[in-house]
Amino acid sequence: MFFVIFGPGGVGKGTLARRLVAADDRLWLSRSWTTRDRREGEADDAYVFVDRVEFEDHERDGGFLETNRFVANGQSYGTPWPEERPDRDVLLEIDLNGARQVRNRIDAAKLILVVAPDGDELERRLRGRGDSEEHVRRRLELAASEVAEGRTIADHLVINDDLDRAVAEVAGILAGYRSS
Ligand code: 5GP
Repeated sequence: MFFVIFGPGGVGKGTLARRLVAADDRLWLSRSWTTRDRREGEADDAYVFVDRVEFEDHERDGGFLETNRFVANGQSYGTPWPEERPDRDVLLEIDLNGARQVRNRIDAAKLILVVAPDGDELERRLRGRGDSEEHVRRRLELAASEVAEGRTIADHLVINDDLDRAVAEVAGILAGYRSS
């Protein structure tokens, strides 16, 4: 099966996705490529970090299932085509633009929109990452419009008010599809 966690940056979807795969042997988290620099303290394998030439070469060769140029920082992100394997389910953690492309390309994909409980909490999380004031402001504006549009393509909406609760809710959604 093919599952997509998507939503605005800063809602905690990365942590949510990592927690899900840590507790689920069948679930395989796709690693995205990006042209942005690694953040201070960020794991080496958080992304495949590449320069723009390498990214665009791979894109031209048809190597990505979906790509996005992120408005807030002008950097590119992409999901390499996942290898299909009967022994695992694929999980993507991407943004709204990527989710729209997956929706159009993979009929059976199940899309789960993750949102922050409120705007103040999202602002606190974005500031906690040490991004610039301007960057935080642009991401907050983007978040509001992304949620509105995300609702129109999502199969499920999960509010990340409490991480343990949200992980359990998404795990329940996955279990529901697997048993049906
Ligand atoms: P960040 O730079 O904060 O790690 O990520 C910026 C945004 O890009 C986040 O909303 C994140 O979910 C999204 N993103 C990360 N990887 C991908 C990807 O492969 N495809 C798309 N479309 N978005 C991605």
